[in-house]
Amino acid sequence: MVGWFSRTVVAVTLRMPRWFVRWVSRRYVAGATLDDAVTIMKRLSSEGACFTIDVLGEEISTLDEAQYFFDEYVRAIEAIQQHGLDANLSIKPTAFGLLVDEEAGMNNMRKLVKMAAEHEMFVRLDMEDHRVTSATIKAVVDLHSEGLTNVGTVLQGRLFRSLADIDALETEIGPHADYRICKGIYLEPEEISFTSYKDIVDATNACVDKMLEAGAYVGIASHDYPVIDHALEALESHNLGPGKEDTRNNAGPPRLNKGPGYEFQLLLGVRGPLRRKLLKQGHRTRVYIPYGEKWYEYSIRRLKENPTIGTQVAKAFMMPWTNRP
Ligand code: FAD
Repeated sequence: MVGWFSRTVVAVTLRMPRWFVRWVSRRYVAGATLDDAVTIMKRLSSEGACFTIDVLGEEISTLDEAQYFFDEYVRAIEAIQQHGLDANLSIKPTAFGLLVDEEAGMNNMRKLVKMAAEHEMFVRLDMEDHRVTSATIKAVVDLHSEGLTNVGTVLQGRLFRSLADIDALETEIGPHADYRICKGIYLEPEEISFTSYKDIVDATNACVDKMLEAGAYVGIASHDYPVIDHALEALESHNLGPGKEDTRNNAGPPRLNKGPGYEFQLLLGVRGPLRRKLLKQGHRTRVYIPYGEKWYEYSIRRLKENPTIGTQVAKAFMMPWTNRP
C-alpha cells in the first residue's frame, strides 16, 4: 500500500513544474550556485559535520564541456579556503572527459588534483557505472605513482570485482589507499553484480572489513542500518572510534584534514537524524553536498531511482517545516 502511494506521489511530482521539483528537492540539493552550497555547509558546520562538494552533472560528449566542471571546482577550492570550511571535492571522471578521450580526461583530473594538493585538499573520484570502473581505479593508481596522494576512489559493494580491487589497490598503493565504500547506485548486469538486497549488504560489509584489515582509510557511505551497524562493530574490532588513534599496525599515514582511520558519509538531506546521531557519538561524518546548474536533472534522477521517496514528498507537502536538510 505504501509502495503504491509512494510511487503515485513520485509519478505526480515528475509531471509538476520546475519550481515544485525545486521545492521538493531543496533538502537533497544545495541549490544552483556555489553560494547556495556554502550557505548549507556553514549551517551544517554548526552540527560538527564536514563535507564533500559535488558539482552536479555527469558524462559529457565533448571535451569543451569539461572546462565548466574544471572552472567550477577551482571556484569551490577557493570558496572552501575563503570560508574556512572543513570540505573536500568529489568529482565524476566522465565529467572531466574520461569517456571522450581517456588521456585528456586524465590530464584534466591531474590538473585539478594538483591544484587541490597545493591547497592541502583531498579529491575523491566518484565511481560511475561499470564502463569506467577500471579506468577510474587506474587514474587513482597513476596519480599516486606521480606523487599525488591526495586522491582516492569509491568501490561499490554490489560489484563482484570489488574485493579483488581492494587486493589490487593494496599492492599498488599500499596503506595510502583511501576509499569510499557504498552499495553502488547503478543497476549493473547480473553477470557482474549482486542484485538482491541481502547479497548487496553482505558484499558491502565484506568490503568494509577488507578495507579496514588492509590499513586503508575507509569512508562508509550508507544510510542503511545493517551497513552502519556492521561498520560500527568492525571499527570497534580494529579499535577505531571517536577520540581513538589508529593503532592498526598496517595503518596508512595521517590523512589530509581527516581523523584517524575512518569516517561516515551521508547524502545531503537523507536520514538527518542518523547523521546527527553519528555526530553526537563523535564519529567524523561527512555530508555530500551536490549543487549546480543541473539541479533539475539530478533531482529527477533521485526521484526516479528511489520511489520510496514519495512518502517523503507527501510529508514535505503536509508538513513543510520538515522539508530541510
Ligand atoms: P538504502 O537501503 O538504499 O537506503 C537506506 C535508506 O536511506 C532508504 O530506505 C531511504 O530512507 C534512505 N535513502 C537512501 N538513498 C536515498 C536517496 N537517494 N534519497 C532519499 N533517501 C534515500 N554510488 C555510486 O555508485 N558511486 C558513488 O560514487 C557514490 N557516492 C556516494 C556518496 C555518498 C556520501 C553516499 C551516501 C552514497 C553514494 N553513492 C554512490 C550511492 C550509494 O551507492 C547508494 O546507492 C545509496 O547510498 C543508497 O544506499 P544505502 O546504503 O544508503 O541503502
